[in-house]
Amino acid sequence: MSAEGGGPRVETASRPRESIRERRLAILKAAPRCGAKTRRETCCAAPAIKGRARCRNHGGRSTGPKTQAGIENIRQAQWKTGYHSAEAKAVRRELREFLRQARATLDEFDEAS
Ligand SMILES: [Zn+2]
Repeated sequence: MSAEGGGPRVETASRPRESIRERRLAILKAAPRCGAKTRRETCCAAPAIKGRARCRNHGGRSTGPKTQAGIENIRQAQWKTGYHSAEAKAVRRELREFLRQARATLDEFDEAS
């Protein structure tokens, strides 16, 4: 790939004689890559859309669902165990509070005896 052959790689800034074309190519090569998985199970590796993690072919321009039906569809698709649902969190919060009170009551008994 390199026009200069072997030898140690030098920082771009310390190579003033490097052509503008080469410097621009180095910038393009350093661009963040798309992390989508391809049908071959490899990473896509196309340049990602600016500020995003996916390329133009893998939904990089997508800003998400807009309609209620679309939002619900995504919500259902992302649902796995319900561990992080508001309901499950409320149950855990209540349990924690119950245990906290039970421990406080036990501590009171210990102090009294
Ligand atoms: Zn991609």
